[in-house]
Amino acid sequence: MTYQTTYPYTGKTLKTFPNNSDTEVSQTLSLAHTLYQKWRTQPISTRKAQLLKVAAALRKHRDELAKTITYDMGKLFCESQGEVDLCAMIAEYYANHGEEMLQPVDLPMPAGQGTAHYIKQATGIIMAVEPWNFPLYQIVRVFAPNFMVGNPMILKDASICPASAQAFDALVKEAGAPAGAFTNLFISYEQVARIIADPRVSGVCLTGSMRGGAAVAAEAGKNLKQSTMELGGNDAFIILDDADWELVKKVAPRARIDNAGQVCTSSKRFIVMADKYDDFVTMLKKQFTQLKMGDPMNPETTLAPLSSKEAQTKLQQQVDTAIDHGATCITGGHIVKGDGFFFEPTILTGITPDNPIFDQEMFGPVATIYKVDSEEAAIKLANNSSYGLGGTIFSSDPDHAERVAAQIETGMSFINSSWSSLPAIPFGGVKNSGYGRELSILGLDAFVNKHLIYTPENSATNN
Ligand code: NAP
Repeated sequence: MTYQTTYPYTGKTLKTFPNNSDTEVSQTLSLAHTLYQKWRTQPISTRKAQLLKVAAALRKHRDELAKTITYDMGKLFCESQGEVDLCAMIAEYYANHGEEMLQPVDLPMPAGQGTAHYIKQATGIIMAVEPWNFPLYQIVRVFAPNFMVGNPMILKDASICPASAQAFDALVKEAGAPAGAFTNLFISYEQVARIIADPRVSGVCLTGSMRGGAAVAAEAGKNLKQSTMELGGNDAFIILDDADWELVKKVAPRARIDNAGQVCTSSKRFIVMADKYDDFVTMLKKQFTQLKMGDPMNPETTLAPLSSKEAQTKLQQQVDTAIDHGATCITGGHIVKGDGFFFEPTILTGITPDNPIFDQEMFGPVATIYKVDSEEAAIKLANNSSYGLGGTIFSSDPDHAERVAAQIETGMSFINSSWSSLPAIPFGGVKNSGYGRELSILGLDAFVNKHLIYTPENSATNN
């Protein structure tokens, strides 16, 4: 496993990072476990102050971190800045609300059966395996809640964004968090598996592909470790017949194109009523052809390169497969020649359920558009997917939108808006998009021991 920063805009490798040895892995586990035991005896208020310092350090180093993210995986510098801001918000959110979220929870008991409540306690070290598309945000959304809970975190980040992982490790230390609270390791899949098997590790989380998720979840299962899996998506963007068309025009292109289309919750399938279909295709084509590919550091650039050569090659294969099986390419469809890993903004239509691409996630600036004759057909099409992560519904009647949302088999529905992520709203999916939730109180509860305290009515008897 080689950990390397290759700048997607130039294709040049900027830095290679040495791998950590088994001895370093072992030292990390000992340090983290010692801290876990110490944290069990300390008030949460200590960690609140430290997490606020992490948030302040994120804000202080905003541009430096944003540059690191962009050099690692190529997203627009302004998007990287937004990512750092969101990370600071997440750290502040858990610092300010963590203590309240960790309060004991009373359990209503039938008369005569005693009293019961559960206390929320740390469980141990969390092994987190994270992807490259949001190099900092993916780390912070596990780190911040677990820091408040008192679960130290070990990170194995994607091998193509090592500089971001290392920068966060340095930032946590600079902010004065205790040694062992967060450790980034450059390790192999086998070392990850050995860490998961270690009895001091209590939880495992992964954000990434179905392939990576299945492999890491299998290790967690084999060792009876609790796990959360945040996997891919093929989210539908449903435009109902009473949608506000001006709003749709404003939101739809960016819902697909942000982060160069490499977001698990990007709107990947636009589902449009027949009478609006042609207008929608024309509008999206116009906006896609106006996108400006170029230097991600230049504020005028509106479409960033893909994260790697491999991502570019894979996307070309998928687009070719779609077309070979009958899809129509309305615009784009090709890798852009040159050193950078750009892919033309692409629109595909006419994808039938027997097209191999119908049920695949395409990670890049490729929109697929479907025509339907009714709301029922839109819902049926949206649900005809092995994924179930997010989704968007447009209707000028929010109740109507919510009635439709409730019929979609998915983890998150966004009404009259693009996909979004905020500290207070949970993030996660169903079906092959994984299980468990990150962010909000649900994310904080993921690796908490809900420790029951029960006192019978008459303590001398069993029942
Ligand atoms: P990936 O190949 O599964 O990699 C994700 C992480 O898992 C990387 O750190 C990778 O390390 C590691 N990994 C893969 N196989 C492993 C194994 N057998 N043992 C240990 N670690 C392993 O996914 P990706 O292509 O980088 O990320 C893109 C995917 O993530 C997309 O499908 C996207 O939709 C999904 N995603 C989901 C969410 C969500 O919240 N649901 C958010 C963002 C992205 P290496 O890099 O070293 O291979």
